[in-house]
Amino acid sequence: MPRAVITGVAGFIGSHLADSLLDRGYSVVGIDNLLTGSLSNVRHLRNRDFEFIHHDVTNEVSVAGAVDLVLHWASPASPVDYLELPIPTLKVGALGTHNALGLAKAKSARFVLASTSEVYGDPLEHPQRETYWGNVNPIGPRGVYDEAKRFAEAITTAYHRYHGLDAKIVRIFNTYGPRMRLHDGRAIPNFITQALRGEDVTIYGDGDQTRSFCFVSDLVRGIIALVESDINEPVNIGNPAEMTIRQIADAILAATGSRSRVVHKPLPTDDPKVRQPDIGRARTLLGWEPRVSLAEGLRATIEYFRAALAAGEAR
Ligand code: UDP
Repeated sequence: MPRAVITGVAGFIGSHLADSLLDRGYSVVGIDNLLTGSLSNVRHLRNRDFEFIHHDVTNEVSVAGAVDLVLHWASPASPVDYLELPIPTLKVGALGTHNALGLAKAKSARFVLASTSEVYGDPLEHPQRETYWGNVNPIGPRGVYDEAKRFAEAITTAYHRYHGLDAKIVRIFNTYGPRMRLHDGRAIPNFITQALRGEDVTIYGDGDQTRSFCFVSDLVRGIIALVESDINEPVNIGNPAEMTIRQIADAILAATGSRSRVVHKPLPTDDPKVRQPDIGRARTLLGWEPRVSLAEGLRATIEYFRAALAAGEAR
């Protein structure tokens, strides 16, 4: 039975990856320091072939026994989080990635880095192809995340080139779905929570900036296709359906039947004006593309948020 280690397993995407690997017959060791993750995301795995280690991978990573696959997912990922946790974000991206690579090397395991569309910064190429080098402000507030992930890509590539490690890099574009936190701070969870509570829906800036939102099951299917491939170049995984932030807010207001008002707040510093993945590489090399429509994805996510809000109120 293959054995996988997932750092950041108690996070939104890490926990869905654990589900998918367990379903595919892997034994899973999950590590998380619970800084932004939550045990509630992995509690349902109690009776599966799953071991949880409460630990900060920034310090070191050691796992006894054979390991075939290391997925390095640990990092704050919401702009609100990495603005509040700048140094832990830099450390997990730099030191944590080095430690996770060291584990993969010691075990001769395959390695996958969770990278991000943030490596493209506020992009001057649109849509973004993997060959684009990006437009990042290293000393801006988002630099702590963007540069940590850019360093993580550099060291992952160095381990591949100089140690022959079978290392892969997935550049994750905006993703949404069940298990995002109510207070996550990103656009979709904020808008759904606000709409369901009848609170003002907060659009930052004029709402003309664009993003392209991928449902989590599509993303995880893409990551698994990458894991099972022989590709070592970075691959964008995301849904190319681009929309403005105003459009996604309107879609959520309609899908929840909410009568919340829309209000405008200041646009955060260095907020990218556009973002859309070019998924040509994933299509050609992995035979992958997204399948879940925005309507379907929002339905599942809103259902999860309704239940989470009701449970929170009952407490
Ligand atoms: N945004 C917004 N209102 C919110 C949260 C986010 O208008 O309550 C905007 C944010 O300024 C950005 C976009 O929505 O332009 C996506 O932000 P998010 O935090 O989801 O992730 P990002 O793509 O910026 O990493």
